[in-house]
Order: sequence, then C-alpha cells, then structure tokens
Amino acid sequence: MSATDPRSIRLDQHLLPGDGRFGCGPSKVRPEQLADLAAAGRGLLGTSHRQAPVKNLVGSVRSGLASLFGLPDGWQIVLGNGGSTVFWDVATFGLIENLSQHLVFGEFSSKFAQAAAAAPHLADPLVIDSAPGTHPRAVATTEVDTYAFTHNETSTGVMMDLRRPDESSFVVVDATSAAGGLLWDPSQVDVYYFAPQKCFASDGGLWLAACSPTAIERIERIAASGRWVPASLDLKIALDNSRADQTYNTPALATLVLLESQLRWMNELGGLAACNARCRQSASIIYSWAESRPWATPFVADPAQRSEVVATIDITTASDGGVDANDICAALLANGIVDTDSYRKLGRNQLRIGMFPAVEPDDVRALTACIDAVVERLRP
Ligand SMILES: *Cc1c(COP(=O)(O)O)cnc(C)c1O
Repeated sequence: MSATDPRSIRLDQHLLPGDGRFGCGPSKVRPEQLADLAAAGRGLLGTSHRQAPVKNLVGSVRSGLASLFGLPDGWQIVLGNGGSTVFWDVATFGLIENLSQHLVFGEFSSKFAQAAAAAPHLADPLVIDSAPGTHPRAVATTEVDTYAFTHNETSTGVMMDLRRPDESSFVVVDATSAAGGLLWDPSQVDVYYFAPQKCFASDGGLWLAACSPTAIERIERIAASGRWVPASLDLKIALDNSRADQTYNTPALATLVLLESQLRWMNELGGLAACNARCRQSASIIYSWAESRPWATPFVADPAQRSEVVATIDITTASDGGVDANDICAALLANGIVDTDSYRKLGRNQLRIGMFPAVEPDDVRALTACIDAVVERLRP
C-alpha cells in the first residue's frame, strides 16, 4: 500500500470513460440492449419457451450467429443451459471418442483437459502446455480423435490462430471470450463453442456451439453407440432441440433477448470483420500505451499472440519504482471504473482489460489516461 490511499483519489470528470465496465465477463451491456429487453416485456418475458415468440427469438439467435460467422451450409448452431464450463462436460460425453489432445496455456484451457482426464470412459488425454503468456502448438497424432484449442485464453490474454494440425483432424475450440471479437475460418474448425457474457454482452448460463457437418456426424455416431450420457449433457438431445429452435430445458429468456439484440447490432455494424476491427483498435491503443510507459509492459511478449479482446498489462512493482496493481484497481474502482483486476491465480502485478466489441475504443483511450493519472498520484 502506498502512502496515498488509492480509494481517496478523485479523477477529473473529463478524464473518465463514458462507461467504466472493462471486465472480461460478465462484461459491458449496451444501454440499447436494455431498452430492447424492456421492450420485449410482455410479449416475450414470462411466456412459454415452447411457443412461437421464444422459438422465433432462438431462431433469430441461431441465424444471427450463422451470418456473423459466415457459416457454410450444413453447419448448425446448437445451444443448451450451463455455460462453457458445462459444455466441457457435454464435450467429454458427446464429442471425444476416446483420446483428446489439449493445448493448455491458462486456467480455462486446463479445465477442459481436467474434465477429459476425469472421464472414466475416455483414455488419458494428451496435454501440451506452455508458460503463461504464450501458447503451445498442436502435434498431429494418429490416435488423437479430438484436438481441443482455446481461441483466446482469458486468464492470460493470449490468442491463437485456429488451424487444423492436419487435414483430417477434428478440432474443438473454446471460444468463450473470442467469439464475436476474433476472426476465424470455419474450414479449420469443427466445433466453436462459447457463452454469451463476453463479446455478446449478455448474461451467463447458456452455452452455444457452432457445429460443422463432420461434428454433427460425430454427435450422431456417439449417440448411436450406446454410451451412457446424462440427458442434460446429451449433445444429441441438444442438437435435436436446437434444430426446432428450442432448448432441452427452460432457458433464461432475458439472456436470449440481450444476446439477440447484441447480435443484430454486430451484424448491422458490418459483421465479424467490423467487430474485430473495433477490438483491434482498442488493443492497439492499450498495447502502444503500455509500451510507451516505463512502468507498464504488455504481458504477452509475442505481438502475434497478444489478444485483441483481453489485454494483460504488467505493472512494475512498487519495490522496483512502480506501483501495486491492486492499488491502481482500487483507485479506478473509486472512480466508477470496474473489473480491471488481473486473473487472481496468475498472481502477477497486472491489469487485465476486456476490449469486447461493446466497449468503445475511445473509452479504452480514456482508461489509459485515468491509469496515468492514478499512477502519477500513487508513485512515491
Ligand atoms: C469465461 C470463460 C469460460 C467459462 O465460461 P462459463 O460460461 O462461466 O462457464 C471458459 N473458457 C473461457 C476461454 C472463458 O473466457
């Protein structure tokens, strides 16, 4: 703790961003989405998910995602309750045939590997890991039937290009914080799954998965094989329901309304390319700012691996003439700027900033000015 109590710092009003939400999920929800939610009111909220109004909403989410991602014919958007964490269990039952290979480079990517390792019906997964702040590379291996990648490792701010290890490999991607903000090529992926509380500015609790025709074949083959699968985690049941614009059990309707509203905005903005351009603009602001400050450094050394949606910025520690990142966060919080804390288990003197499409690049610029002002006051 420095001599100045960070919570006592008051920043000039003109420095502050228009919106102070920079979290990595749940993340900033645009006011227009809330207006859409209020407008959905009586016609939708509190009505049956087996009737036309909600089914149309689910249909609109599915077609909006297919158009955002430019999915080829034959792909399906499948959805169910439980968020990305539950999808790891869904995949353990319904996608991995016997042996998976996992690229592990942070907290989230390690969790899917753990789920596969714990499953008694699967072989012990192959794990390729690398130091935090980098990502490992997949190794094409004949026995592997599923390659598990993470498009953006939210705990470290590392992104990776999605490419099949070889032509016939089956690739499953955790895109929870990437989907809607990063570019990808459907020809390199079979399952691209995520939850709506990050780039899609909605609430958590739902998982969505874009599935290739090969993935659908795999889902149907495993379902026909007689493997025991709990119904709530059964991907074939989810697929059948999704084809009818439904979910197996009751979804949160407000989450779907917020998601659909954000998707319409993203597609009107110009689709995935336009969303990615906004994120890249924010990323360029924050990384070039960090490189120009003696007490800040982008955590990810390789610029090609630096995430365009989640920036991790190391701060020089107080003992080396910098400041405690927790003090920066506390001062920002006292000024209405929230969720700039680093991922706790990473244990670094670091800030982590969500730069999802909903976040204004100008607000990211304002945030950098606020951090400058806070550091100025906190440094001895
Ligand atoms: C947030 C996140 C998750 C967890 O999502 P939940 O919906 O909370 O289960 C998984 N993977 C990545 C990459 C994430 O960013």
